[in-house]
Amino acid sequence: MGRKLLLEKAHVPGIRSYDVYRREGGYRSVEKALKTMSPDQVTEEVKKSGLRGRGGAGFPAGMKWSFLAKPEGVPRYLVCNADESEPGTFKDRYLMEFIPHLLVEGLIVSSYALGSNKTFIYIRGEYAWIVDILEQAIAEAKNNGFLGKNILGTGFDLEIYVQRGAGAYICGEETALLESLEGKRGNPRIKPPFPAVKGLWDSPTVVNNVETIAAVVPIINITGEEYAKIGVGKSTGTKLISACGNINKPGVYEIDMTISVEEFIYSDEYCGGIAHGKKLKACIPGGSSVPILPANMLLKTAKGENRMMNYESLSDGGFATGTMMGSGGFIVLDEDQCVVRHTLTLARFYRHESCGQCSPCREGTGWMEKILKNIEYGKGKKSDIDLLWDIQRKIEGNTICPLGDAAAWPVAAAIRHFRDEFEWHVQYPNAAQNRNYGLAHY
Ligand code: SF4
Repeated sequence: MGRKLLLEKAHVPGIRSYDVYRREGGYRSVEKALKTMSPDQVTEEVKKSGLRGRGGAGFPAGMKWSFLAKPEGVPRYLVCNADESEPGTFKDRYLMEFIPHLLVEGLIVSSYALGSNKTFIYIRGEYAWIVDILEQAIAEAKNNGFLGKNILGTGFDLEIYVQRGAGAYICGEETALLESLEGKRGNPRIKPPFPAVKGLWDSPTVVNNVETIAAVVPIINITGEEYAKIGVGKSTGTKLISACGNINKPGVYEIDMTISVEEFIYSDEYCGGIAHGKKLKACIPGGSSVPILPANMLLKTAKGENRMMNYESLSDGGFATGTMMGSGGFIVLDEDQCVVRHTLTLARFYRHESCGQCSPCREGTGWMEKILKNIEYGKGKKSDIDLLWDIQRKIEGNTICPLGDAAAWPVAAAIRHFRDEFEWHVQYPNAAQNRNYGLAHY
């Protein structure tokens, strides 16, 4: 059983309420940080912990905090990115729904470190019921002196506001989120300037994911040094993974990043194996924006070693994209699944969610969807596969925000690893159309 830092108390009856959360040791990190540490010392602990941003990019959180500009007389903001909309990713929802005070506690400590007196949670619009849960937790924290003016008599003031999005995936991109929070259409901004210098209402702003902020609580409680001892290498601490697809036990799991992918899929403690006794065909290990990997590449690295559930081991998918740990959305496909159909579903999603500002993304996502649709529905030509490859290459790296790349990579990976499946669709259009994939050769 791996160590739990975030979800350890998630199943304690009544943990959503302040009283139970507090009885279980909640808000200790606020007392420790505000009463015994300076803001810089809190930031130093987060740096020492090695915590990497849990939203997808995996950038060191403490370093991100240290980039925050601190001009005299200008307010600074912390914004919590709870716009969790990546297909296959639902770990932040779980955390906010079942242990909301953990996020509130993390926000108080993080706001103190960053000097934010007004902090925002930007939550995806579809999580409407969680807004009520968070607002209840915020109200309880305030009633008990952990929010508002002069918190715990330390002179630190903080208000936390919850703002619902309106159903746009692109608002999970930090600058689009800030635009939306300012009441505008959620179009990503060209960077630089980065939010750390010019963010919300032109003020220095840090945008952090829900899980990243929640992780600040155990870091302060046990110290950054102890936190860094959990996990392996630069994959420190624990990580929430939302597992779904053709597995026996879909759900949200907290792992300490020392287990193998094979163990995660087949162990009863986690996914419990492939459903209905089928074989594993492929997996998207970190949300829809990272490459799909065939079973052999998923379980072993290019060096033939067991692939581990951590940032370093999940980083050789044949792409220069950093890590495939991504947003922690672990999507498993069994031997009966069609990669072409699956890729079409993702292409449709990205075409729908493109904000339309840049031509490669706006036009390219539409073209990719059309071509994939033709191939999937028996109207494709062999040359379409190369055309698809060419289009995704022309999107990657040529757009304002990462959505363009995120749309291109799943297509690239599908063609790279499952080209024969695309060719089969072209060669046997009727069979493909009749949903009889004839994929016995897999
Ligand atoms: Fe909008 Fe796509 Fe350009 Fe991002 S890459 S700014 S989503 S058009």
